[in-house]
Amino acid sequence: ARTKDGFSYTKATGELKRGLVSEGAICPSTSFASSPQSTYDVIVIGAGYSGLVAARDAASAGLSTLLIEARDRIGGRSWTSKDEHGNLYEMGGTWIHNQQGFVWRELARYGMDRNLKLSPNEDYSSHAYSMARRNGIEYKQDYATNEAVMDRAMRIFTNLPGASVQEAVPFPPHLLDSFLSDPKLTALYDTTSCAERVAQVEKEGLLTNEELAYLVAYIELCFGARLEKCSMLVWAKWYTHGNCSYKLLNDLLIVYKIATGQSSLARKIFDEAASTGKLSYSFESPVSKIIDRPSATRVVTSRGTFSARRLICTLPINVAGKVEFDPPVSALRQEAWKEGHVNRCLKVHSEIAGPEFRSWTGNLCDDDVPSGRQLSMAIGDQLLKSGNAAVVAFGIDFDEEKAPSKNPRGIASLFGEFDPELEKRYIGSTWHEWGSDEFANGAWAMPGVGFSTKYLKELQSRHGNVLWAGADISDDWNSFIDGAISSGTRAAYTVVEEWRRTTLPSAKL
Ligand code: FAD
Repeated sequence: ARTKDGFSYTKATGELKRGLVSEGAICPSTSFASSPQSTYDVIVIGAGYSGLVAARDAASAGLSTLLIEARDRIGGRSWTSKDEHGNLYEMGGTWIHNQQGFVWRELARYGMDRNLKLSPNEDYSSHAYSMARRNGIEYKQDYATNEAVMDRAMRIFTNLPGASVQEAVPFPPHLLDSFLSDPKLTALYDTTSCAERVAQVEKEGLLTNEELAYLVAYIELCFGARLEKCSMLVWAKWYTHGNCSYKLLNDLLIVYKIATGQSSLARKIFDEAASTGKLSYSFESPVSKIIDRPSATRVVTSRGTFSARRLICTLPINVAGKVEFDPPVSALRQEAWKEGHVNRCLKVHSEIAGPEFRSWTGNLCDDDVPSGRQLSMAIGDQLLKSGNAAVVAFGIDFDEEKAPSKNPRGIASLFGEFDPELEKRYIGSTWHEWGSDEFANGAWAMPGVGFSTKYLKELQSRHGNVLWAGADISDDWNSFIDGAISSGTRAAYTVVEEWRRTTLPSAKL
């Protein structure tokens, strides 16, 4: 079925399409023909990974569960589109890894853990290199050289004077706790931007322009934002998740994807939840207001008002503030929502004639390109059924005025800023404008400087009957698919336990 989300453009016909085919599209949009149940055991807001897992776990435990979603599809910020030739494009969250225990468990549960394919491919030797440009100087490195360069550059960059993140963070999943329990490290890392650190290493001659050309583009790729907005604390968290190794970090971030697409995993979770007979759902039902009272919580949507004893809310932090709460959420939470995270990445897949760019990587740091640098990094991602390469590019600080949907003919020249050959070979594109998406207003959540230490605990704390979940506020793989699943799992567990305590007769020993 078709979702309203996403765009595609073909240069030959000049046609721009809005809305793409996806396995994640849900039709019909509600599970109930007339009036729904009066009070559910739990309502879950949001059918991204966090909400899907929470709804499945609650429904599987026997709770009457209502899943409410604004869009016409499951998956939230992770979804897959399919073109008329059967090519799959990941529009949002893509890469997963076996070190991410929660997502790996889901894959194993549905027999999908061998259903993976690789993004990098170094077979096409004419273009098997990574290019980077900084201060007008262009570099080319083969991948083995690039790995060694990045490993060294990251180590020097990440260890601020007087700190060794490797020693400070003995166990990466609890990194934020380690930082928070050490005021010196907190002060050092969460008050320093990556831009300040680049200036420092440059001034002290610790890294060369070539090393910085690759490193800066990589950090900006991770944040979907320019360096000034990137927090050293969050960067250090990512680095230690990769056990302080570039190779492992890169494997975690950008290598393994699901061969049948993210939407196929989301489908499995949704279908299992539906098969319990305890799940009701309402898609295309944006929530506008949540009224929480001790006896029940009411959720006002465009399709009516629903009621439940508990609520699991997985709204992304950059849009949660649009929903009215009665009683209001704390002033600190409101402040956090207002500030939001900084990631305004634009993800664009382009078909490029010939297979050669399948093996290629590009990094841009200079802002003096014609677009003002909308894209910062691109990689060969797959070989399409046509035999052409698909290159996926990532933008920073999405600017709605310059959105590809407003000027699709300009996409080719954006790719040409990496290499003019890409512009010449350009065929067409598929993309999602996350920066102007009304139900996300950003991509994967990257907290800015000072955000995590100030707001994260508050964002996780309960508000009456309302429990919060989602990748944006999860503890361990914060901002990743894994974090979405882990926090959804935990929230559902809490709700199920409370339900058991109040509903089921005590077990007789
Ligand atoms: P969401 O998926 O955002 O789910 C929240 C749901 O709430 C959405 O479906 C939304 O429509 C709904 N909603 C919003 N407002 C309302 C409302 N008012 N009423 C009702 N419903 C509402 N992660 C990785 O692990 N690996 C990657 O490679 C990766 N790459 C990414 C690339 C991009 C471009 C993006 C955007 C994300 C990427 N991520 C990646 C991050 C990952 O996709 C997300 O962190 C994860 O999918 C978030 O899941 P969630 O359930 O917490 O939130």
